Amino acid sequence: MAEFRSRVEAFLGARYPRRHETLRHGQGDDSLVGAAFRDSDDEAGDLRRARAYQRELFDAGLAWLSGPVEYGGAGLGAAERQAFAEVVRRYDVPDVNGLLVGQQIVAPAVLAHGSADQRARLLPALWSGELVGCQLFSEPDAGSDLASLRTRARQVDGGWRVDGQKVWSSGAHLAHVGELLARTSPDPASRSRGLTMFLLDMESPGVTVRPLRQMTGTAHFCEVFLDDVFVPDDAVLGEVGGGWAVANVSLSSERDNFGDESANLFIRLLDRLLLLGQEVGAAEDPDFRDRLADGYVRHVVNQVLPASLETATPEVATAGTSLVKLFATDADRRLVQLALDVLGPALVADTGAWGTYAWSRVLLGVHATRIAGGTDEIQRNILAERALGLPREPRPVREDRRR
Ligand SMILES: Cc1cc2nc3c(=O)[nH]c(=O)nc-3n(C[C@H](O)[C@H](O)[C@H](O)COP(=O)(O)OP(=O)(O)OC[C@H]3O[C@@H](n4cnc5c(N)ncnc54)[C@H](O)[C@@H]3O)c2cc1C
Repeated sequence: MAEFRSRVEAFLGARYPRRHETLRHGQGDDSLVGAAFRDSDDEAGDLRRARAYQRELFDAGLAWLSGPVEYGGAGLGAAERQAFAEVVRRYDVPDVNGLLVGQQIVAPAVLAHGSADQRARLLPALWSGELVGCQLFSEPDAGSDLASLRTRARQVDGGWRVDGQKVWSSGAHLAHVGELLARTSPDPASRSRGLTMFLLDMESPGVTVRPLRQMTGTAHFCEVFLDDVFVPDDAVLGEVGGGWAVANVSLSSERDNFGDESANLFIRLLDRLLLLGQEVGAAEDPDFRDRLADGYVRHVVNQVLPASLETATPEVATAGTSLVKLFATDADRRLVQLALDVLGPALVADTGAWGTYAWSRVLLGVHATRIAGGTDEIQRNILAERALGLPREPRPVREDRRR
């Protein structure tokens, strides 16, 4: 482990400054980044830097630490992942947020359900940053109740023709490959059994991507229109009719990675809050100090919680990812609330003071984390029913069952 740590130190130290060396109040760009509240006017530049960093990590065997060696992973375990997270948080590395959907949502489904060819083609490409992935699950009328989705794929010679609309698709405007869930059986009695997963080439004719501007001012997610799009047979991921199981691998991994700090998002906010507290004289206030320390403790817990699920039974592991997600997003909100309490009106009025108004986008964006990847209410339902064994919530009687 000591040797592994020094390898990571050597790799990062040769390329990036230490975080605290670049951290001065009033110096440089004061924008803040976070999972759902990106604050950058240079999206293409961010992605270029992220892909270059990812490529270097991949070539050094440090990109996909737990992945199988045959697909470009390092075949290491939770301890190395933990060690990497500890070392990387000391460095000012590029923000790899734009690559995470491909790595944390699409890749696990490909690994679990992909053909040998799909694995060999996609896994190294997603983990080296060569390909950017997106998740095409949600629709205007299908979010929490995902199995009610209406995008339809009908079988044709050599493949499928897809029609429908997806929405809230993060990074779809930058993605090369989309993990697309569509209905292949119209039988209303088998809502989840009639779904199939496809790996969609986002350049296919008939795919139209329109970014949606969010109240943060940025446009990181999109509407995706699918108009008679041809998808070849070899792009089916898993079994025809088996899309629900594939989707669950992706969703479970998405939740499990909510507190992931490969881009140092939370710790950077924590740093900036410390600077802010020092600048405005809050750093001596016991309440501020207590809440900042609480944020740090939550950051550390966030790092170890997913690993603690690795030895759990499948039922607990699936429900446990909901716990990871709830814990991580709650930590985000607590931190932003502290910034709000320190800044007060300075957070909503752009006075030109360094590092104050920048928090407004974080405040506007942080609540999206309660929705993305399955809402807080849905995570609590999952925990209640699967982990605690409480009675299932009453399900509404559907129209088609009434008849
Ligand atoms: C920042 C962000 C990024 C996203 N990225 C993607 C992406 O890349 N790909 C993708 O496919 N989707 C993405 N989504 C969509 C996300 O998965 C959905 O928004 C989410 O699943 C909720 O669905 P909905 O918006 O349709 O809300 P609804 O399902 O309509 O829910 C509305 C409200 O009702 C509550 N509710 C619904 N059902 C229940 C229930 N059974 N019990 C209790 N309360 C309930 C919900 O908690 C919520 O408060 C993203 C969303 C956000 C905010």
